[in-house]
Amino acid sequence: MTATVLDGRALAATMSAEIAADVARFREAHGYEPGIAVVQVEGDDASSWYVRQIRRSFTKAGMRCAVHELAPTTTAEELADLLRSLNADPRTNGIIVQMPLPAAIPQSLVTDLLDPGKDVDGIHPLNAGRLMQGDAEAFAPATPAGGMEILKRYGIDLRGKHAVMVGRSNIVGRPMAMLMLHQHATVTICHSRTPDLGAVTRQGDILVAAVGRAKIVTGEMIKPGAVVVDFGVNVEGDALIGDVDTEAAMEVAGYVTPVPGGTGPMTNVMLMANTLRAAQNQAGQRPL
Ligand code: NDP
Repeated sequence: MTATVLDGRALAATMSAEIAADVARFREAHGYEPGIAVVQVEGDDASSWYVRQIRRSFTKAGMRCAVHELAPTTTAEELADLLRSLNADPRTNGIIVQMPLPAAIPQSLVTDLLDPGKDVDGIHPLNAGRLMQGDAEAFAPATPAGGMEILKRYGIDLRGKHAVMVGRSNIVGRPMAMLMLHQHATVTICHSRTPDLGAVTRQGDILVAAVGRAKIVTGEMIKPGAVVVDFGVNVEGDALIGDVDTEAAMEVAGYVTPVPGGTGPMTNVMLMANTLRAAQNQAGQRPL
């Protein structure tokens, strides 16, 4: 069997063009472009790479992207002041704070202070709680939202399917499990303490990996014909490797997201979609 590739890159290009058209309509109606503020600690290479991608995608779609760089010595009070001013700025519609934070600042400071209406990566407990309760208007974290959008646009129906999620982080695994549950899948969540991982993953009609370990999901761990969604991004030399052994998966599965070119490109697009939605909410165009 050769699986169908779930082409996140092509889908992201299509969605970007759709969002750009909606952004143009928003600008015409309100006289300004929806915009995001990205807060990051200077000097973190992985974070800087991601922030460049965000800026490029937003600019291409006609949206604003302001990057606020923090010195590694930034204090909790300074970050709190910045977040309060971004919360209060009417032209800042969405805010994301890149991890890692300066060592002295707890992550709870960000989640406590961020305006939930501007929390376009769904990290605030209010949005996480609303997602948990099945509220479709909650901002879901962009990465799992992108994975779900791939499934939706490829017409993959989750109803009654057994979805196995490997990974339970607050930003990927957990919200992805909730989103699949909302689509009426029967969901099993695996993590580092799951014994005999393969015995569980082989039951998955839908198998999703968000672990951060290259090729931890081998071909033998995949149910024949399954839909495999790989969120893993592992850097090995010049190569990006997923959490799934893609080559082996292509022989066993029915559908596979490749790495790179699968879930990765969708993350930015969902961030754009959430920022546009936040701007529409704030402009009173949509109910909160
Ligand atoms: P975390 O490190 O926060 O979480 C990893 C999860 O994997 C944890 O729940 C952990 O379990 C679980 N895990 C670790 N080892 C095993 C194991 N041997 N068997 C089963 N489960 C295990 O990572 P993230 O969720 O933030 O990221 C996961 C991957 O997704 C990474 O490669 C990251 O780079 C990528 N990523 C991709 C994005 C994209 O845009 N596509 C965006 C964000 C992340 P436990 O909870 O027990 O520790």
